[in-house]
Amino acid sequence: MISVRDGQNRILAEIAAPTPPEVVPLTRAYGRVLADDVRAPFDVPPADNSAVDGYAVASADIPAEGRATLAVVADLPAGSIHEGTVARGQTVRIMTGAPMPRGTGTVYPQEVVERDGDTIRVGPIAKGANVRLRGEDVEAGAAVLQAGTPLRAQDVGLIASLGQWQVLVHARPRVALASTGDEVAEPGEPRAPGQIYDANRFTLRGLVEQAGAEVLDLGIVPDVRDELSARLLDASRMADVVVTSGGVSVGDYDLVKDVLAELGGIDFWQVAMQPGRPLAVGRIGTAHFFGLPGNPVASMLAFMLFVRPALFKLAGRRALFAEAFEARTTEPLAKKRGRREYKRGVLAWRGGAWEVHTTGPQGSGILSSMVAGNCLIVLDEDRGDVAAGESVLVEPF
Ligand code: AMP
Ligand code: MG
Repeated sequence: MISVRDGQNRILAEIAAPTPPEVVPLTRAYGRVLADDVRAPFDVPPADNSAVDGYAVASADIPAEGRATLAVVADLPAGSIHEGTVARGQTVRIMTGAPMPRGTGTVYPQEVVERDGDTIRVGPIAKGANVRLRGEDVEAGAAVLQAGTPLRAQDVGLIASLGQWQVLVHARPRVALASTGDEVAEPGEPRAPGQIYDANRFTLRGLVEQAGAEVLDLGIVPDVRDELSARLLDASRMADVVVTSGGVSVGDYDLVKDVLAELGGIDFWQVAMQPGRPLAVGRIGTAHFFGLPGNPVASMLAFMLFVRPALFKLAGRRALFAEAFEARTTEPLAKKRGRREYKRGVLAWRGGAWEVHTTGPQGSGILSSMVAGNCLIVLDEDRGDVAAGESVLVEPF
């Protein structure tokens, strides 16, 4: 038996280099992983500018008390600049975002100003009020985003604000996906007695896409040695990672093990966890191989724990693991010492604290538990039974 943590470390140690970088336009950059730091070529904003619609004045013209009268000498819309210098006793009508005219350093919002023809009357205001300073968002030369960051909407927006229209990202890892088993039928097709519809290829496809990788769909492979062998060998030539479900336990038709032992360097692991104990890990040619268990919850969990961090590392991401935090269980949880257990939970904020309860029956074939749940309850190896009210780790999914 191997622990979850050891298994993860061994898998990650096998992934030497991330996928090569490629240039994509910003319109295709969302969700991609940066291959290089993004640096600001200039200050953002590029000049001091007004944060409001109002009147720009010299700080020396701000009255300490009472009111001052200033002459309005120009009108400055956003996108234009004021050529001259604003003299003492003068002001410029300015719109939000317009660069501050030379000689000014404070803006009165138009709401606090009395305007009368070409003059305004103003009272005291803090020096520098309502001015956004050059470089206050980003300073020239600063690394605003680091290599290894998966790009969120705001990250793409920030790159765009630097005037860049394309960006260097890692190629998406290609993941070949197959379901194995004579009993597995394709949804939409008739199902023979004794058959079940394929769930795993669809849950796994979603997880692969969510991880920022591309799916090559190999369909369903029957429990026939030569066919399995040929399909997996093919897959290993097209993909960076090959993922199968089913056929890794000890049944008579669990052929994945035998076939892989012939094709490449494959380890079979009994991972000290529940659900999802049997797992085949290794390589076929240059492709990384993961043989996940057949039970739908077990295959999803094994993907989340072992395949996802590998895909993240392959895609050049820096953060590889989900964040966990603590919640209070509202029900007792049966737990066997010596293995890590993952229960499907419903997590909610109640009475000022995070509370969690299980989704009900926790069998590794009960996929509806993943549907009803919104988190994994993670119970570590050295923990025994958990009483209601105890604190447990949860990982939202
Ligand atoms: P196996 O590891 O092949 O013995 O499969 C374990 C259990 O998972 C069996 O009940 C299979 O019928 C079920 N199973 C295997 N593959 C799938 C699949 N693609 N979708 C849903 N259930 C599956
Ligand atoms: Mg099978």
